[in-house]
Amino acid sequence: MILNGKLLADKIIIELKEKINRSFLQVQRAPKLAIIQVGNNLASNSYIKSKILRGKQSGILVELHRFEDDVQQREILQFLETLNSDPSVDGIIIQQPLPPSLNIKELMNHIDYNKDADGFSNYNAGKLFLGETAIRPATPFGIILLLKEYNINVTGLNACVIGRSNIVGMPIAKMLLDLNATVTICHSKTKNLSLHTKKADLIICAIGQPKFLTAEMVKKGCIIIDVGINRLEGNLVGDVDYEALVKKASFITPVPGGVGPLTVVSLLSNTYQLYCLHNNLKFN
Ligand code: NAD
Repeated sequence: MILNGKLLADKIIIELKEKINRSFLQVQRAPKLAIIQVGNNLASNSYIKSKILRGKQSGILVELHRFEDDVQQREILQFLETLNSDPSVDGIIIQQPLPPSLNIKELMNHIDYNKDADGFSNYNAGKLFLGETAIRPATPFGIILLLKEYNINVTGLNACVIGRSNIVGMPIAKMLLDLNATVTICHSKTKNLSLHTKKADLIICAIGQPKFLTAEMVKKGCIIIDVGINRLEGNLVGDVDYEALVKKASFITPVPGGVGPLTVVSLLSNTYQLYCLHNNLKFN
C-alpha cells in the first residue's frame, strides 16, 4: 500500500486553517514564520516556495529574508535578534544549506528556543532526547504523523534507520524508540548493512543516495519510509528503488508525494504550536 503523504498534508492544512481561524478571533493576528535564506540555492528556492504556498493555504504568514552569499555571520546574528524580539514573529528557520563560511550551529542556537520552528536548537533537541515535550524536527515529526494516519503501530517492531543526521536520522530514531520500536541506526560506516535491513519490519532511509535500498536488502512485507530527495537524470527520486520495492513492501512512501509534503506541514504546525505558546492558547 502506498503511504500518501500529499493527501495527509492536504488534510492537515485544512485542519490547521480551521484552528488558525478560531485562534485569530481571539488573538487578532495570524501566526508568522520567518525564513532566512542565504544565496540562491535552487533546491532551497523550491522548498521555500512550497512553505510559502502551504502557509497561504493554512493562514500562516511566511516571510522570506534573503541574504547574499557573502553575508557575514554577525549580520545574520544581529538580524536573528531583531526577529527574536519581534512579537509578531512566532517561528524562525534558517534554510539549509548555507555557504561553508557560516557557522550554522551558532546561528541555530541564536534563535530564541521559543521561536525555533525547526526544533534544531540544542534546547529543543535536548528536550526531545530527554523525552520531554519539545518542538520536533519537521521531517521525523511528519513521518510519525504518516505512520499514525495509516494505523501503523510500531510497538515491538524492528525499525532500522539508515542515516544518522541531526535533522532526520537521530530524531526519528528517538521518536520511534519513544513509540516502543526496537531501533537500529545504520550509517556510512555500518558493516553488512543488509544484515540489519533484512531483519527490519520498518525501514527509514535518509541518506541522500539515489535508489540505494534495493529489493534484495529487505524482507517481504516490511514498511519502507523513503526520506531521500535526489535528482537523477532530471527526475526526483528517493533513496529506495521504489519500482522494485513497491511489490515487496507492505507499505511504502513514494518520492515525490511521500515524506516531503509532510515536512512542510509539520513545520507550519510547529509554527502554530509556538503561536499558541506565545498567546496562551491551548495547542492540540
Ligand atoms: P546528511 O547528509 O546530513 O546525512 C546522511 C546520513 O546518511 C549520514 O548519517 C551518513 O552516515 C548516512 N549515509 C550516507 N551514505 C550512506 C551509505 N552509503 N550507507 C549508509 N549510510 C549512509 O543527510 P540528511 O540531511 O539526513 O538527508 C538525507 C536525505 O534526505 C537527503 O536526500 C535529503 O535531501 C533528504 N531529506 C528529505 C527531507 C524531506 O522532507 N523529504 C527532509 C530532509 C532531508
